[in-house]
Amino acid sequence: MPLIKQISLLVLFSTAVFAQEAIQYTFRFPAPQTHYLEVEATVPAGSPQLELFMAVWTPGSYLVREYARNVEAFEAISPSGAPLKWTKSRKNRWRIETGGAARVKVKYKVYAHEPAVQGNWVDAGFAMLNGAPNFMTVVNAEKRPYEVKLELPAAWAKSLSGMKRKPGEVHTFVAADFDELLDCPIYAGSAPVHEFVVEGKPHYLVNEGEGPMWDGPASARDVKRIVEEFARMFGGLPYEHYVFFNMIVEAGGGLEHKNSTWINSSRWAYGNNAEPAAPGAGGARGPSRHRWLNLVSHEYFHTWNVKRLRPAALGPFDYENENYTTDLWMAEGFTSYYGPLALKRAGLASQSRLLTDLSSAIHTLQTTPGRLVQSMEDSSFNTWIKAYRPNENSINTAISYYTKGEVIAILLDAKIRRLTRNAKSLDDAMVLAYRRFSGERGFTEDQWRAVCSEVAGADLSTWFNQVISTTAELDYMEMLDWYGLRFRPSPAGRRNVYTGITTRTGSANVTISNARRDGPAWLAGFNVDDEIIAVNNLRVGAADWPSRLDRYPDGEKLRVLVARRGELRTLELPVERRAAESWALEVRPDATKAQQDNLKALLR
Ligand SMILES: [Zn+2]
Repeated sequence: MPLIKQISLLVLFSTAVFAQEAIQYTFRFPAPQTHYLEVEATVPAGSPQLELFMAVWTPGSYLVREYARNVEAFEAISPSGAPLKWTKSRKNRWRIETGGAARVKVKYKVYAHEPAVQGNWVDAGFAMLNGAPNFMTVVNAEKRPYEVKLELPAAWAKSLSGMKRKPGEVHTFVAADFDELLDCPIYAGSAPVHEFVVEGKPHYLVNEGEGPMWDGPASARDVKRIVEEFARMFGGLPYEHYVFFNMIVEAGGGLEHKNSTWINSSRWAYGNNAEPAAPGAGGARGPSRHRWLNLVSHEYFHTWNVKRLRPAALGPFDYENENYTTDLWMAEGFTSYYGPLALKRAGLASQSRLLTDLSSAIHTLQTTPGRLVQSMEDSSFNTWIKAYRPNENSINTAISYYTKGEVIAILLDAKIRRLTRNAKSLDDAMVLAYRRFSGERGFTEDQWRAVCSEVAGADLSTWFNQVISTTAELDYMEMLDWYGLRFRPSPAGRRNVYTGITTRTGSANVTISNARRDGPAWLAGFNVDDEIIAVNNLRVGAADWPSRLDRYPDGEKLRVLVARRGELRTLELPVERRAAESWALEVRPDATKAQQDNLKALLR
């Protein structure tokens, strides 16, 4: 095709895209205490039928959540105000007979009473809204601009979002396309907002629920240090502004977005009277502050890893179906590695706290039987039906890509550092992959492996195959040796009775909540939900289980009375003592100067 023709076609095409008329939304909160949001939208039409859809899931959280279940009182109205006929064509689609109108108005109500970070919340005090539960768009024509105008109750003074504000308007936001619209949660209320600037870009920490127990200015100063640390690592900030929606609502969890994150917190997490850091901890925060900062650091690192440097399968999104990828071990696991590592590098955590965090991932991995059943690829691909829909047997059949992915990152970082004699690290691989594959493209698993091999100056494909595609045990020797670390030896002589079962907490009864595959109780036929009533005819309760077992010698076969579905039965449980497994990393007392320097290079 001649160049001139290509150009004119391109111009035509771009004009067509940019000329798409916006869908204009208005959100109203006439009775916020009832948890309802009232939505009105003006939707360009032009054909006899208009089909709208709502997302069934929200990116970053891989579960079909059926947001349409909270929609009610749907109406479609012509420009003259006449009601239009409509039908549901799918669980999440509405088909409207437009009568040929150029645009139609739709109205509906959304029940918003799920404070989870993937949820949707409206109450008397504030609203925290995700895109997926609230917005509809036109089937096959979602690539268009959007406008969202908020009509706030008199007592609510503020609104914030990752979206840009419409020039000249206070509570109206604009999004260039449906992806941006769904990627930008909206807050409306009167929370304290702490603003700080990094690299000339404004950042907002919205502390909804900040009371006397939360030190707002101090929390903002710490968040700023996290931002500065990652800006240094990636050489800049890839957005115009960023919002940390910190909902202090006695809940947990966090969800990443391109230039915002929704985090749920406890009011006790960042207390004015928080527990002091240990003496000599080098500016480290107390344990609950540390957990909160770790969550902030994790979600913020996603600004790069997964929101911009993303698996090819995660974009453009199919909002009506599951989106499958085998790469979540990198998206989530590597983020779980950089979360605590950045806190140490930013001076917000001590070396020992970082080692505790990393040890925790290793301990969880090595004590989860499912690691021998499920590979990382499998864990990632099936997250929709496994990780996000766990049951009492998950511990035996599944391993989290957060957990094993983090451990793989620890090992890979050490490997690259050793192979390059500290000239390169996993940081270099992340930054190189980000430069090469961020934006519209996404990376394939092969491309990510190739980047790591390139940075390491060695072919890592065999190692990647082993740790990602198989369930083989991981080898820690190279990492331990490089940093001069070891797993803390167990206290000599102490061995506890091992049953392999976990019991429910918060009850006076002893009820089994899960049974580890091949543990003594599993092999003896104990079941989840069995209530343990007596051991050798003596009553036992939650208060003295499992210390009761300690009273019997190794090898004795205990007669354990259980109630199962209302029927009593006796099972035989052999007493088996095991030394506690230790996966706690510590610096070797005899670490060489070179090993100490290697660890310093990691921690900086
Ligand atoms: Zn994450």
